[in-house]
Amino acid sequence: MARPDELLFAPLGGVGEIGMNLSIYGLGNRHQRSWLAVDLGVSFGDEEHLPGIDLIMPDIRFLEQERKNLVGLVLTHAHEDHFGAIIDLWPRLRCPIYATKFSAALFEAKCAAERNSPDIPVTIVPSGGRIGIGPFGVEFIPVAHSIPESHALAIHTEAGIVVHTGDWKIDPTPIIGPPTDERRFRELGDEGVLALIGDSTNAVRDGRSPSEIEVAKTIAELVKAAKGRVAVTTFASNVGRLRAVADAAREAGREVVVVGRAMARVVQVARETGHMDGVQDFRSAEVYGHLPADKVLALCTGSQGEPRAALARIARDDHPEVTLNGGDTVIFSSRTIPGNEKAVGAIINGLVAQGIKVITDRTRLVHVSGHPRCDELRDMISWVRPRLLIPVHGEALHLSEHAQLARASGVPKVLICKNGDLVRLGPGDPGIIDELPSGRLYKDGSILEDSKSRAVVERRRMAFAGCVFVAIAVTDKGELVEDPEVDLVGIPEKNMAGEILDDIVFDTVVSTVKELPRTRRRDPDAMAESVRRAVRAAVAEEWGKKPLCYIHVLVI
Ligand SMILES: [Zn+2]
Ligand SMILES: [Zn+2]
Repeated sequence: MARPDELLFAPLGGVGEIGMNLSIYGLGNRHQRSWLAVDLGVSFGDEEHLPGIDLIMPDIRFLEQERKNLVGLVLTHAHEDHFGAIIDLWPRLRCPIYATKFSAALFEAKCAAERNSPDIPVTIVPSGGRIGIGPFGVEFIPVAHSIPESHALAIHTEAGIVVHTGDWKIDPTPIIGPPTDERRFRELGDEGVLALIGDSTNAVRDGRSPSEIEVAKTIAELVKAAKGRVAVTTFASNVGRLRAVADAAREAGREVVVVGRAMARVVQVARETGHMDGVQDFRSAEVYGHLPADKVLALCTGSQGEPRAALARIARDDHPEVTLNGGDTVIFSSRTIPGNEKAVGAIINGLVAQGIKVITDRTRLVHVSGHPRCDELRDMISWVRPRLLIPVHGEALHLSEHAQLARASGVPKVLICKNGDLVRLGPGDPGIIDELPSGRLYKDGSILEDSKSRAVVERRRMAFAGCVFVAIAVTDKGELVEDPEVDLVGIPEKNMAGEILDDIVFDTVVSTVKELPRTRRRDPDAMAESVRRAVRAAVAEEWGKKPLCYIHVLVI
């Protein structure tokens, strides 16, 4: 008798970290399985640990191997940590992609803005709709979040129903879109849900997150009270927030000027997809200088301190069209993502030093998170009543807090897993049954690199301790033909006694070559290795640091 189909789950990104979300669901048995992928996002590199790396993506080796069994990729919403890796990675998978209208339109606009982006077809699914993808029935349940058209997925299979929450919160009064569909979650709970795979971002925060409408009220008050020019910066994709800012401007008799390409792109997509219906027309940045100070509001990119984005340029008075002066107001309607504190702090201090009033979420309710706090997580559990809960979308602390909350709420089984763990959800007792290949890819310039590759490690070492290059020309007997060439890069010129390090390295090279035993001197590789050790030791002696060291021995 054939064994019944197993339903499997594996996170390939987004667990133990916030970012680069990729989950896969498998249905079948050891011999024949279909896979469904949910989201394919990026993380952002940080300059200190990963110099020169802008984006980090999940390693998709496993899906590449299973390409013929991969029935599709479903997108919960269009945040970068959920869809930012598609342009780079889809060509390796070439599977059908499913998303609702706004996500698909934003993706298309993103592709159009990218050079040499492949032609990637996306099938549009109605919000609230259900489609069959291979053996999976995938239902898109509207949830409130910080971007239009965020969806939880109910994945219906012969082995049971899984609810994959995606990013969500409970906001009874979101500015756009329907509130989280409590009724549908309750119905699924009545049908019986095998597993809840849930957002853990704010599991460390008590209570409930405030509504977007509260933020809108605060922004309206602040804009109304402002005297000079007003600039508001926020995440471009938070269309509800853009609407709130537009309403605040209109009430205060100000025109909205959109500054920054990412913002302009989202505004256009939001207008095309009906999420800005009824919102006044925005003006282009060229008219900014022609409007009276109390009749204009600049809606800017750059809330994370990005040096090339609009706000940073305005702050250092380097923007061709938009300027601010003492007495003007800047509102950060955003949260600073960990890692960006220094860059954002520098902009805030620069603005304050110019006499500009800066308002952040530390003092006023000008931002709320799009993720559920503890009471909201409890609500979701009580609606869905899952047999198993797996916390995802969080660092270790968030996952463990979410797990603890779930246990305390009476969920029979709670499982914390890590990227790559293959979990059997059912039938039978759930548990981790295997480990799939997983990891990270770095986008280094235009090249995708394995995170274990040497380039970044070497760059980090070079940044810390510089590099020595030595070229030695010798006869086949190992006698120096000429003076060696020595180059020091990123290394101080003189030691504390004022001696030139270049000369010290030169002398070290010459004496090392001369003192080598005859047999070793005839072997260029052995000579290079001896010189490398001697040079590193000599520099360490003078400087206290060991540089990278490259020795080239040329036999002439
Ligand atoms: Zn997310
Ligand atoms: Zn999100």
